[in-house]
Amino acid sequence: MLTLIYLLAFIHLNNDLFFLKRFIINIQIAFEIRIKINYLVSEILEMDIVEIKRLILLFGLTNAVKFGGKPNLKAIMGKLMSQESELRTRINEIKPLLDEIAVEISKLTEQEQREKLLELDPTALEKKTSAKEEKELPRLLNTENYEKIIMRLAPYPSGALHIGNARMVILNSEYVNKYKGELILFFDDTIGSPKSMRNSPKAKYVIPEAYKLIEDGLKWLNVDYSKVYYKSDRLEIYYEYCEKLIQDDMAYACFCSALEFRDSYKKQKKNCPHRNQSIATNLKEWDNMKAGKYRETEAVVRLKTGMDQKDPALRDQIMMRISEADHPRVGNKYFAWPMLEFSWAIDDHLIGATHILRGIDLVKEDVIEAFIWDHFKWKKSEFLHYGRIKFPNMKLSKTQSRNNITKGIYEGWDDPRTWSLQSLEKRGIKAEALKEALLELGMSTTGIVFDESWLYSKNKDIIDSISSRYFYVEDPINIEIENVPFSEYTAEPLLLPSNPTKGKRKIKVTAKDGKLNTLIARKDANQLRIGQIIRLKDLINIQITAVDLNENLIKSNFNSFKLNRDFSIIQWVFKENNVHISIIKPDGTISQGRGEVNLAKIPLNKPIQFERFGFVNPIKWVDNALICYFTH
Ligand SMILES: [Zn+2]
Repeated sequence: MLTLIYLLAFIHLNNDLFFLKRFIINIQIAFEIRIKINYLVSEILEMDIVEIKRLILLFGLTNAVKFGGKPNLKAIMGKLMSQESELRTRINEIKPLLDEIAVEISKLTEQEQREKLLELDPTALEKKTSAKEEKELPRLLNTENYEKIIMRLAPYPSGALHIGNARMVILNSEYVNKYKGELILFFDDTIGSPKSMRNSPKAKYVIPEAYKLIEDGLKWLNVDYSKVYYKSDRLEIYYEYCEKLIQDDMAYACFCSALEFRDSYKKQKKNCPHRNQSIATNLKEWDNMKAGKYRETEAVVRLKTGMDQKDPALRDQIMMRISEADHPRVGNKYFAWPMLEFSWAIDDHLIGATHILRGIDLVKEDVIEAFIWDHFKWKKSEFLHYGRIKFPNMKLSKTQSRNNITKGIYEGWDDPRTWSLQSLEKRGIKAEALKEALLELGMSTTGIVFDESWLYSKNKDIIDSISSRYFYVEDPINIEIENVPFSEYTAEPLLLPSNPTKGKRKIKVTAKDGKLNTLIARKDANQLRIGQIIRLKDLINIQITAVDLNENLIKSNFNSFKLNRDFSIIQWVFKENNVHISIIKPDGTISQGRGEVNLAKIPLNKPIQFERFGFVNPIKWVDNALICYFTH
């Protein structure tokens, strides 16, 4: 509207119709372009949805054909997200499509599923041997300036590495392998929270067992490193450089309280009274700090980054502080401890780190490091940043895990709820699957929401063909079968339906006076209707005659032996001979139920699959119950 008024004014002033004509033509052209753009956009969107539907159908049919007719929603979504990573932002839009298509797939017979799949992809049923797709990481900068690429891992040993830490490890290791460089493991074991704050549940500090837990986790991930350093070994080095900075008038001893410094000086961009102390005074006070003359929070050494820095976080940063806490490696030998940024400025130079990989949220650390390197006229390392990943379904905190382990709430550092590398291994997740899932995120600096199904679908690809199947019924309920025409019968389900050569299990059942009792999962029981015929997998077909779930009563009649795919097939366990099972899940819930008798003699720590439930790793026996960790 405003443009029109201007234009009319313009025309009035110029009194020239030519402009009006031009204006109208321009509007027409713009309008046409817009129509074209709209058309194109809608065409792209429409094609997109069609393509998404085609992919869901393709992956859904592939999955259904592979696993006996029933599509697994999680696996299909996982496959879609890992193959078409740009769809990760559109999960909410895709979910209903997936549900809809999965229902359609389930309605088809296995033969129809195969035919439809071959229509979509004539090669779908051939074994694919295509080479693994390598997701390329962006190149490291200025590699030509260095004889050898040297990078470092810097874990803080407050607990085992968890899935969130694994990305840093894997990216560093990939880069070093790619450039045939050297990877250094540098334990970032400074003192952590001061003694006065150690009782807080949020306190962060080194725990002695973490060193080994971290090295074990790296071993599991197959990450090689050339050397191991400990910051706690290097206090004298930090002292030496701190003293140099004081002598160069680049640092000073400050006795302001944290609050006072923040409110009266940092926020006001003003120097605190200690900033202009003489070098001699600073050196003397620094000696006093080292000698234990000051208590925690009474004195710090600040770097003269400048009180006029734009970013308040950079105004005269603390480099050294006092801690009275004991350190697991050096006890209470030292009172003055470095802040991480300061120690890294020194260490990265001394170990010759060429490229430093860190989260985009730690850019402030780069500035402090570079400031110190500039002062000492040291060559600068290259910084690379990656964005944060969110793990919305996991509580990733080493501190919280430590607290829950100490209280006995968690089983230990391998408890599935910790999401530690140890726990992933114990759940039966393969390091290769984790590595692939994390590498696919590349170095993206935008925030990513991690979906476990990416990891699970990759892991399933590895363990599916090696995990024997067994029957498990969760929260079991008895089903009484009458008129059974045998007193003894042996069911013989396959150990691995996709590979019959692996052999069969044997489950012997006995009936008394024509009556057989089996257990089924409550979830399956909820679906039963009177008159319905169902198949107890690899056993018999039965017809339901009575259901009263409040009274835990289900009755049925023997129907027939022969497999008929029109009947729902459910897993079962013989009531009089079975195994107690407890499955600990990463979300903290525990599934309780009964498993078939063959579970009594399976090897521990080898993943198996409970049909229509999921993969689990059997961990140990406790009071005649088999404890398993849920894989996925
Ligand atoms: Zn001060």
